[in-house]
Amino acid sequence: RVAGSRQYSNVTSLPPTYEKLHNKYSEVRRVLGAQRLTLAEKILYSHLDNVEESLLNNTNNGRDIRGKANLKLKPDRVNMQDASAQMALLQFMSCNLPQTAIPASIHCDHLIVGSKGADDDLQAGIQTNHEVFDFLESAAKKYGLDFWAPGAGIIHQTVLENYAIPGLMMLGTDSHSPNAGGLSTITIGVGGADAVEALVGAPWELKAPKVLGVRLTGKLSNWASPKDLILHLAGLLTVRGGTGYIVEYSGPGVETLSCTGMATICNMGAEIGATTSIFPYTEASARYLEATRRERAVKNAAAFQNFPGASASEDACFKFKADEGAQYDELIEIDLSKLEPHINGPHTPDLSTPLSQFKTTVQEQKWPEKLSAGLIGSCTNSSYEDMTRVESIVRAAEEAGLKPKADFYVTPGSEQIRATLERDGTLQTFEKAGGIVLSNACGPCIGQWKRQDGVEKGTVNAILTSYNRNFRGRNDGNLDTMNFLASPEIVTAMAYAGSTTFNPMTDSLTTPDGKEFKFPAPHGLEGPKTPFDIGKDVFKVASQPPNPNEKVAIAPTSERLALLEPFEPFPNSDLSGLKVLVKVSGKCTTDTISAAGPWLKYKGHLPNISANTLNTAVNAETGEVNVAYDLDGSKYTIPELAKLWKERNQHWLVVAEHNYGEGSAREHAALQPRYLGARIIVCKSFARIHETNLKKQGVVPLTFVNEQDYDKIAAGDEVATVGLYEMLQNGGQGEVQLKVTKRGTGEELLVPVKHQVSKDQAGFILAGSALNLLSKSASA
Ligand code: SF4
Repeated sequence: RVAGSRQYSNVTSLPPTYEKLHNKYSEVRRVLGAQRLTLAEKILYSHLDNVEESLLNNTNNGRDIRGKANLKLKPDRVNMQDASAQMALLQFMSCNLPQTAIPASIHCDHLIVGSKGADDDLQAGIQTNHEVFDFLESAAKKYGLDFWAPGAGIIHQTVLENYAIPGLMMLGTDSHSPNAGGLSTITIGVGGADAVEALVGAPWELKAPKVLGVRLTGKLSNWASPKDLILHLAGLLTVRGGTGYIVEYSGPGVETLSCTGMATICNMGAEIGATTSIFPYTEASARYLEATRRERAVKNAAAFQNFPGASASEDACFKFKADEGAQYDELIEIDLSKLEPHINGPHTPDLSTPLSQFKTTVQEQKWPEKLSAGLIGSCTNSSYEDMTRVESIVRAAEEAGLKPKADFYVTPGSEQIRATLERDGTLQTFEKAGGIVLSNACGPCIGQWKRQDGVEKGTVNAILTSYNRNFRGRNDGNLDTMNFLASPEIVTAMAYAGSTTFNPMTDSLTTPDGKEFKFPAPHGLEGPKTPFDIGKDVFKVASQPPNPNEKVAIAPTSERLALLEPFEPFPNSDLSGLKVLVKVSGKCTTDTISAAGPWLKYKGHLPNISANTLNTAVNAETGEVNVAYDLDGSKYTIPELAKLWKERNQHWLVVAEHNYGEGSAREHAALQPRYLGARIIVCKSFARIHETNLKKQGVVPLTFVNEQDYDKIAAGDEVATVGLYEMLQNGGQGEVQLKVTKRGTGEELLVPVKHQVSKDQAGFILAGSALNLLSKSASA
């Protein structure tokens, strides 16, 4: 029998999502036959827009596809957090569509400051950000999106509890979206422009990832937790080790983990730069679906996995696990029984130290021995299992008459987990011990922490968190806060000691009556004995069909939100009359091009946030930071001059050195220069993601053929392209030339530059931006 030729007479017995998955998987099997596939490949390839084109044309009969083929994917849904949703929705609005092509949700979590406690903080957050929340809510109503109001929870926890279903492919406008891989989904963190591609129904492009296998054996014991697995792995692989890979877990050890534990591990796959991470579907996954009141999903998953397959081979059914014998590009083996707790940091999540060596390391490195705060919870570690394990040690310490010596904060990941922990008495235990329960929002995890302990900026101090990231200043904006990552149990025990050198596995504390107290090993429950409590009504999801009459709330006077105007298309000729705005020397990261910190509040207002463009760039000709000179020699900041030139309709370019745009996928770093009038960036090399982002916004990235030509161009020189327009008709890679007219002397020279623009990307550039093209084709 030819693979895939089976007639599926009862295919309609599957729910629509699984019916679609089944049909696509049949096509994949028809092309690949009995080739052994990892789980990641099964799900990813079953979301291809055109299976044959992607799997056959790009590769050797569907083999060797990893790391080579460009996949065009059709995700099932998009999840957006409030900070990044603003630009995503503003871009979507400019497509003039009545509704999104796939389901999507908005989660108000990033903008709430953690300070005094849940109620006060939430009210203050709503007051400060009401304009943004009103906009997001009205957009949700107009386009039929799910809206999770402030206080409802953190995006990744809410997605795990409500939307993650095995086999789904989702995009999330946040780097920790892979959290949902704990429930066997492929979920990838993207920027707003990528999200919009999916929202309008266009295929989303991804270079076929390689697959890094992690085979688990044994079982966690004593103080070791799922968090320690990923902390250990981050130490092994470093922050770049997962780049271009999906991390896929397998082996008998997987069966011993809880679903939320698997989610924690996937969440922090972002810390090793992985595209995403995924676990197979296990008994624990089914138990979690049941506990979160999704019994139907359990039945559907079982029916799907037993459904007659697409192939006559032994892969007849699509099981939510890798095929026996599937090949990994790299394979790491970890014995969970041997794993000990780890503490990672400060300032980078891959600086990993086993707990047994931490005291010595603290002393050798002269890190602070006093612990000023312990913070547990967040989207990473606020599961029922995490919190009840913490509860067990807090109860033991309470009974011994102890209180935490360091400030102790708890952030529930969602209203559902908060309400359940309150129902079951866990939160009360923390509060009785002096813990402060913050609102169900990101707060201190994303710099939204107003410390109450008097630790001023510039003061060296140590904190421990069970969060996922610990870049400098990440929690309290203080570059001198040393932030370490650990499991919630370790954070809590060390908060009781108030010391970074305390090892709860071996050391004792002294009780008020002078006795020695040693923490017992933590124990907890994987999930609640009765299903999760949904919590307060006010935090329930608002889910509605699209309402075309809804007016999206943006005040014309707003300083935080502004409607987007489409960028002008590429002229029907080569570019001419461009001027070099500034020649930059040294590193020019996405942070240099679009700074974060206080500018975050303008993420939905392109004109206002553009006032930070390149504001930490070094002027190559003068060595000054954030200084540019107009053609008459007048001195300005770089964004001021760019704004002035925009008003004069003077288009411009930037000249830069290596790895321009390194750092992140921050789309504002491409949007802002484009808004201010940039048409070209010429440099020695680009960071890959930023180069793609520039093309999406209609800016042409070019690199010098001869790096020394960087020295031949200066600020104020006039530049025209030669051959670029012709190249854009077809895309491809090759060389074009820049005709440079030197300022002052009028001398002319030709500088050869390279381009690498696919046919699709050439289309974006000619239309003015990817969005211009998408909105045209979406409304056609
Ligand atoms: Fe991101 Fe932290 Fe919020 Fe999680 S809690 S979504 S890591 S900011």
